[in-house]
Amino acid sequence: MGVLRVILGDHLSRDVAALDGWEAGDVVLMVEVAEETTYVPHHKQKIAFILSAMRHFAEELHGEGIEVDYITLDDPENSGSFTGEIERAVARHAPERIVVTEPGEWRVRAMIETWTALTGLPVEVREDDRFLCSRGRFARWAEGRKGFRMEFFYREMRRETGLLMEGDKPVGGQWNFDADNRKPLPRGTRLPQRLRFPPDAMTQAVIELVATRFPDNFGDLSPFGWAVTRADALSALDHFIAEGLPSFGDVQDAMKRGEPFLYHGLISPYLNVGLLTAREVCLAAETAWRRGAAPLNAAEGFIRQILGWREYVRGIYWHQMPGYAETNALDATRPLPWFYWSGKTDMACIAEVVGDTRRNAYAHHIQRLMVTGNFALLAGIRPAEIEAWYLAVYVDAFDWVELPNVHGMVMFADGGLLASKPYAASGAYIDRMSDYCAGCRYDPKIKVGEGACPFNLLYWNFIAGNAATLRGNPRMAMPYRTWDAMDAARREKIVAEAGRFLDGLSPDPAGGRPRRGQIALDL
Ligand SMILES: Cc1cc2nc3c(=O)[nH]c(=O)nc-3n(C[C@H](O)[C@H](O)[C@H](O)COP(=O)(O)OP(=O)(O)OC[C@H]3O[C@@H](n4cnc5c(N)ncnc54)[C@H](O)[C@@H]3O)c2cc1C
Ligand code: SF4
Repeated sequence: MGVLRVILGDHLSRDVAALDGWEAGDVVLMVEVAEETTYVPHHKQKIAFILSAMRHFAEELHGEGIEVDYITLDDPENSGSFTGEIERAVARHAPERIVVTEPGEWRVRAMIETWTALTGLPVEVREDDRFLCSRGRFARWAEGRKGFRMEFFYREMRRETGLLMEGDKPVGGQWNFDADNRKPLPRGTRLPQRLRFPPDAMTQAVIELVATRFPDNFGDLSPFGWAVTRADALSALDHFIAEGLPSFGDVQDAMKRGEPFLYHGLISPYLNVGLLTAREVCLAAETAWRRGAAPLNAAEGFIRQILGWREYVRGIYWHQMPGYAETNALDATRPLPWFYWSGKTDMACIAEVVGDTRRNAYAHHIQRLMVTGNFALLAGIRPAEIEAWYLAVYVDAFDWVELPNVHGMVMFADGGLLASKPYAASGAYIDRMSDYCAGCRYDPKIKVGEGACPFNLLYWNFIAGNAATLRGNPRMAMPYRTWDAMDAARREKIVAEAGRFLDGLSPDPAGGRPRRGQIALDL
């Protein structure tokens, strides 16, 4: 036969590079791999979403007359290892060569590099051109820079793509409207209904498979409402542009009990597996603004997340890996508390976000950054443990995007390569941006003593404990001035109370570390 074209589980785009030049006689290989890996216990909905999207994509290719060799998880012949499946496929089809698109994870890239030795065949790894910034382009941007600030990268991407530009000037005369986007949710706001997609027979079969194979994994499996085809993902995008985008900007950072989605796009899983492209999503938002259907602060804020943050974190990942994951600039070593899995804590904000995460395999950006992330930073959780948690629990979590967000943005474990200062905040921030505190046994206004919000204690304890590393950072000057001005007895009391609180945290019995026997979902 001709070429063996390998499609990984996050390459579900008809125009993915590995399919370029397809000819009769070529075979597409898609594999559901239950490898015994050093991976993480993924949320049940995440496994169901990816497997179902893979099966639907294979069916679409098949409908076009493309030969697809699809190996299901429960196929008795499935070796359970990706390497084993490549070897078996080569024996079945005797291809002349193998073609694959570059994967989204360093570990998989290293594995693909063994295929030539394994099979004796030439292996062509094609660039993933679904991103707006290639790895080479990012490396050129990064060359010679001391710090990699997203804002400067974003401006270059705006110029290069022409998105929201008038000639060489940003529309509206400003690159960034973030200052308009920090409002709490006004009382009595009526939020849009979200478009959910009831499982069809194929998704239902996958749901049953996941229920049987992964009964103990974190998260509810139903109700399952994710789109698993490009057609449905496009409907989800259209619905968001009409109903969510107009208010996306103003309350982008708000949080509300019982409202996990607010005006967010809910499109990251579709972008990350290839059902939507970054370009079409950005264009849809720009078009809505040009038609007058969304204000500029909303369209700009939304496009910045994708053209800016998403492309930027991918650039950082490939530019810095594999060493990036190993740094621990703040020497954080505390084990992950068990409540990250159980949700059982008196801190109402954490209980709410973990509950949303369990129900939906989703939490929006500020929940991830300023609640579960902020706590992990302040409590000094070991970066690898909190990274494993984030990689497991979100439907959109893939190493290239999760790692820089957690390691760099949340944990400051890269020493400030990604963020110019740690995103550390006390309970006042959570109180301002949410209604969580009203239902909490702690009080965000109490700084120390009976009823003090743990985020308040931990915030100052973090400032004190990391002075050697952070005091010299000009952006941290204000908190250090406030800390220095506090009377010594109060400072001692805060540190002692924070210490008692931290000592009382019960760790995850599994250590938050990768566990064996889980499916490798990057494939
Ligand atoms: C600790 C932490 C972990 C995260 N882990 C992931 C992850 O594993 N996978 C993932 O896709 N996103 C991750 N993010 C980014 C962001 O939280 C999600 O992309 C977003 O919540 C997805 O929901 P949405 O589609 O409703 O996003 P919206 O709020 O509607 O934003 C639109 C799109 O912008 C992109 N985006 C926004 N912020 C970021 C960002 N910081 N990095 C990359 N893309 C961004 C996403 O593609 C998103 O779909 C993480 C953020 C934090 C703080
Ligand atoms: S009082 Fe503190 S712990 Fe409780 S919800 Fe508010 S921020 Fe969270």
